[in-house]
Amino acid sequence: MNQEKGSKKYKLIVIGAGMAGLSTGITWAINNELNKDPVLLIEKQPKTGGFVTSYEREGFVFDTCQVIPNISEILDYLGIEIELKKFKGYYMRILVVNPETDDVKVLELPSGLDNFKKKLMDQYPDNGSQIEEFLDYSREMYLELFNLKVEPKFIDILKLLFTCPKIIKNSSKTFKNYFEQFGITEPDVIEIFNIFADFSALPSEQVTALVPISAMNSLLDGAYRTKKGFIDFTNKLQERYENLGGELLLKTEVTKILVEDNQVKGVQLKSGEKIYSDYVVTTVDTMLAMKQLVGLEKIRSIDKKYANKIESIKMSTSSINVSLGLDDKLDLAGLGMDCGYNVITTGGDTYDRLFDDYEKGKIGFSDKRFQVGVICPSLTTGGQPNITIRVSPMGLGDWAKLRENDRPKYQEEKQKWGDFFINIVEKYLIPDLRRHILISDISTPATYARYSSSPTGSIFDMAPYTNNFGRTRLKMRTPIKGLFQPKFVHGVFGSLLAGIQVNDMILNRKIMNGNARLKI
Ligand SMILES: Cc1cc2nc3c(=O)[nH]c(=O)nc-3n(C[C@H](O)[C@H](O)[C@H](O)COP(=O)(O)OP(=O)(O)OC[C@H]3O[C@@H](n4cnc5c(N)ncnc54)[C@H](O)[C@@H]3O)c2cc1C
Repeated sequence: MNQEKGSKKYKLIVIGAGMAGLSTGITWAINNELNKDPVLLIEKQPKTGGFVTSYEREGFVFDTCQVIPNISEILDYLGIEIELKKFKGYYMRILVVNPETDDVKVLELPSGLDNFKKKLMDQYPDNGSQIEEFLDYSREMYLELFNLKVEPKFIDILKLLFTCPKIIKNSSKTFKNYFEQFGITEPDVIEIFNIFADFSALPSEQVTALVPISAMNSLLDGAYRTKKGFIDFTNKLQERYENLGGELLLKTEVTKILVEDNQVKGVQLKSGEKIYSDYVVTTVDTMLAMKQLVGLEKIRSIDKKYANKIESIKMSTSSINVSLGLDDKLDLAGLGMDCGYNVITTGGDTYDRLFDDYEKGKIGFSDKRFQVGVICPSLTTGGQPNITIRVSPMGLGDWAKLRENDRPKYQEEKQKWGDFFINIVEKYLIPDLRRHILISDISTPATYARYSSSPTGSIFDMAPYTNNFGRTRLKMRTPIKGLFQPKFVHGVFGSLLAGIQVNDMILNRKIMNGNARLKI
């Protein structure tokens, strides 16, 4: 495979300009002389940001992304300043509905670990010591993450026995197994902690314990959203990347990752053009990258184990999002909507059973079993009043086929489910909601699949089952020399961090000394 004469060769090509791609590009630009080692970011959409974006409909601006934990160290490292609102008071409310009586119990989760602990211990004194033990132990386990190495050497593994004992002890446990050790029996408390498992897009009986523990601790350290919409964040990242001298191609789709003699050579575009580089970092959906852009058989011929691992991986779920533009007659703040996240749920094992149906390819939501997130971005951005209803688990099922082959039926299904979720919010959270709706915009799993090219419409990449996490996860360093895939579940924080980690890997631990986290 010879370099075409006269064409520019890059040191690094990054496929996809979402959070992970932008972070990879900026970190590269900070740590290299770009006139010698240039970097090129290639994005198929006309704009950067991937899943983190804002879009306008008839004067209403909607965000895809809703709430992020404290990412200040990452922002400092990347050299980005954005205006963020930190949720004070409570950052989450859980409305537990009894579907037989329609009674609603409201559980408020205050911000800050100490406030949270005190409130729970005061409110549920019979479980006080168990709650304290669970939160303290989990905090210590979360802090151990800062001692982990991404690619531990032999000596690192030995050290882990002393620096990360709790992580080692619990590494193969699901959140349910882990939680049960503490003997908490109070149903409300179980409800509260299980929500963090659901936030990880897997039920508590399947998700690896460390993911909900990290989500809980990082959100307790601060839950935020951008004051100018999430597009502001994306724009700042792109601006920083370009100011540092990084190059960007928009509306350009990569169709192939070029490999020769077990070494990455660059990429091929939909136009047929080839662009060459020493390193390629792919930040697109893992299955798309490994199965379509590289090809599983090629990987298998180099490393059978890695290929088998790819085949065993389950991706995360997709989602339905209902964004509603409202008139200004609703007192959204008075309804308590000025918090990061509201969850309306029928409680107990709701998410687990919805997930069972999702795994069977069915939609299990009904009047008696549901769980939805409701967020009010306009109380932060000050824009036209709006709310977003966010629903998971949701599989791709027939959504994409329907959209492709029978548009009226697709619209009908989309509206049916949109109405179903609006009814739940109207019944249990925002009375008379329907009378105030001026416009609605519903995205389905087909929307996410089309936008990101994820074959499963997954919104959180690989799902964090116990058999694909920590040391057992699909490695960022692929068996093809020079090809990396810094992808994993976790949302904005994880994607930004992964961009820094992959540079650390390429640059021989120059940035983070091989650590899994930036130091706090
Ligand atoms: C509706 C929704 C709500 C969410 N809410 C939250 C939240 O509240 N908090 C949170 O932390 N996380 C949230 N997430 C998850 C979070 O947005 C993602 O985890 C994160 O943005 C993933 O970033 P990424 O760069 O890894 O991938 P992506 O954002 O998927 O970026 C990959 C990029 O690659 C591009 N691409 C794909 N194929 C090609 C190709 N062949 N050639 C070139 N480019 C290609 C895509 O267009 C895309 O821009 C949400 C996601 C969704 C969809």
